[in-house]
Amino acid sequence: MSPMVEINGISKTFGRTTALAEINLNIEEGQFFALVGPSGSGKTTLLHILGGFVQPSAGRVRIAGQDVSYLPPARRPTTSMFQDYALFPHMSVGSNVGFGLLMRKVAKSERLARVENALEMVGLSGMNARRVHQLSGGQQQRVALARALVVEPKVLLLDEPLGALDLNLRRQMQQELLHIQKQVGTTFVHVTHDQEEAMSIADIMAVMNNGHLEDVGPPERVYMKPRSRFTANFMGESNMFEGQVIERNGDKIDVETVFGRLQVSGAAEPGTSVHLSIRPEQIKAGGGDQKGHVSLGKLKVREVSFFGTHHRCQGQHIESDLAMIIRLPQYQAAQPGEDLTISVLREDIVLLTQ
Ligand code: ATP
Repeated sequence: MSPMVEINGISKTFGRTTALAEINLNIEEGQFFALVGPSGSGKTTLLHILGGFVQPSAGRVRIAGQDVSYLPPARRPTTSMFQDYALFPHMSVGSNVGFGLLMRKVAKSERLARVENALEMVGLSGMNARRVHQLSGGQQQRVALARALVVEPKVLLLDEPLGALDLNLRRQMQQELLHIQKQVGTTFVHVTHDQEEAMSIADIMAVMNNGHLEDVGPPERVYMKPRSRFTANFMGESNMFEGQVIERNGDKIDVETVFGRLQVSGAAEPGTSVHLSIRPEQIKAGGGDQKGHVSLGKLKVREVSFFGTHHRCQGQHIESDLAMIIRLPQYQAAQPGEDLTISVLREDIVLLTQ
């Protein structure tokens, strides 16, 4: 089966700015796909090219097997949901949700039934006659979602739809979006600034940087085994260091580093320099003699902050002066000035290939 969305060689320039540089990406049917990246990395431009609001400078887009590269938005099997919802404030909830069906000349009885269905799906049954301005922000959000889904698009495009909500409501809506997406099975492409949001909702996520795709994959893989230095830094904190490849053993390499000689998974030629990273929460105090663990020497603790779920310790690796961050469990507080023996599971040392 061919992918639901096929993006082939898409580039976009605005004057001298390259917003997208030859993007190739497939999105499978039924996937919740998240695009994440810093401001200006090209997320919205890519989403707008899928929706037909922006014309690509080069490349082609196919959706549901159809070449839509030069079709206007209304002729594509997509609908969009934006941060400002763009609801009609003077109209009832029902008229807002039914608007797209009215435009498509769907008969009244079918329209009413589909609107009621869509409202039920987003948890707004019985709200049909309410005016939009009488609803809370979260409820308006649901109306916008019902309006986008009622026309049964093949792909729903979401541009920072939760950006205006406060943190608690945002977390709640993330769960609801995920639940609704699984229920309807529509392919969702969701743009966000928020790394945690992307990881918590996506089946597959793409990290964008400067008009390029840095990394595409399931959130666990992207977070735990980032491909690039950019991804390792962008998706949370990382301890990064360099190494010289000494030898290659099958699918592993031996690398000389500030932590001594480490064996890591991956491929690189002997004699080359590589970058490696370790997430702060993967470093343990003690444990160097446990099975599968590698001793990293000693850390001089400089600052400790309590974050509820963990202690964040900043310090320096004593043998090399490398600045490091580690996370200790709630029950394991360290004191500034203290020296900690640190270790990591061998497989949690990541070779960054870009
Ligand atoms: P944000 O998270 O801030 O919305 P983004 O990742 O969605 O950012 P885009 O909005 O896609 O990024 O912008 C990518 C680049 O293209 C930026 O450098 C931006 O300034 C530029 N750009 C986007 N739209 C236009 C436009 N209509 N005219 C000129 N430049 C544009």
